Amino acid sequence: MVVDKKYYDILELNPSCSQSDIKTAYRSLAKKWHPDKNKSPEAETKFKEILSAYEILSDEEKRSIYDNYGPSGNPNTNTGFQMPTHMFDMFQNQKPREKNEYQKIYITLEDAYNGCNIDLDITRKIKCVDCNGSGVRTGVSLPKCNICNGSGRQVKLNQIAPGLVQQFVTPCSKCNGSGIIITPDIQCKKCNGSKCLISNDKINVCLNRGTLENTQIKYPNLASYNPDHPEVTDLIYIIEYKPHPIFLTNKINNIISLFMIKQISLAEAITGNSFTLKHLNGKDVTIRTPRGYIIKPNELLGIKELGFPDVKRNTFNSLYVKFEVLFPISYSLSDEKLNTIRDVFELKEIENSDKDIYISIFNIDTGNEQETPSQCNQQ
Ligand SMILES: [Zn+2]
Ligand SMILES: [Zn+2]
Repeated sequence: MVVDKKYYDILELNPSCSQSDIKTAYRSLAKKWHPDKNKSPEAETKFKEILSAYEILSDEEKRSIYDNYGPSGNPNTNTGFQMPTHMFDMFQNQKPREKNEYQKIYITLEDAYNGCNIDLDITRKIKCVDCNGSGVRTGVSLPKCNICNGSGRQVKLNQIAPGLVQQFVTPCSKCNGSGIIITPDIQCKKCNGSKCLISNDKINVCLNRGTLENTQIKYPNLASYNPDHPEVTDLIYIIEYKPHPIFLTNKINNIISLFMIKQISLAEAITGNSFTLKHLNGKDVTIRTPRGYIIKPNELLGIKELGFPDVKRNTFNSLYVKFEVLFPISYSLSDEKLNTIRDVFELKEIENSDKDIYISIFNIDTGNEQETPSQCNQQ
């Protein structure tokens, strides 16, 4: 279920469509509504809408945020989608927009549960302030590359068959497509012609109680500067959980379920069990199985309000405990004790007779017979 269908409607698609459906629909609609070809008055608006819808739906991450939260994005993380006007410019300039910079932050489950503040030192490139990103001393005119004459492009020929030559354009090999050659004598002294400087910043990331995994936190215009793509882009942190020694998590419909696995003996499964653990809230919690309840192998039992905080509903989810019941490999109980156990379970006594045939346990792979504990006891 998606919360909003607008972008799918624009591309005339169903929300369950695949990435290849999205590409196909985009190609055919963009062709149909391109303002260069389509002279109807609504063509430009329609074309921009198609580009916007495509930009979001063709990116799995953006699509998932859109599906879950709609066009306003995740309210906790400023992930809203606006009509990206740059898309139209991009199409006209044929220059791809530089992507945002994504970095992961790994936090403990305790920090996700309780909320936390994280101080991060970020080292990034910024545009050189002295030369304003040109790499050249002020007052010096930008020296054109003599190979491409400042265009940054070279036309090359490729013979694909006798008499058939294909012409193609590549970035200039001398200036790497920049169109200028910066020689040491005209370099900016501050950045040595590199066009950028290194900046060390501190960022404080504040995470709420019950922060979900894959939450994105956006710092606009803080991505590292790239002189080849001078557009300023955003730095986006993605939250991931570190593995925890006790607890596991599972996210379904933006609800985090907290799990743990507890191994207990067969005797404990039958007679009851209690264990103490350090909860994510920092407190020691003692968990008891209900008296008289026999735990089945791999049974999943829930404990209300001991799970992850659900901030939206101002409550706590359940903690789920999966019980792995460890059966004894052998036992050495007296006949008296065995009979006591049989009494408890109201089993009638086994009468011994000389004609009894004991089950043999074979190893299926080797065919070797194993000694059974019951035979040991008989001897
Ligand atoms: Zn400089
Ligand atoms: Zn060049």
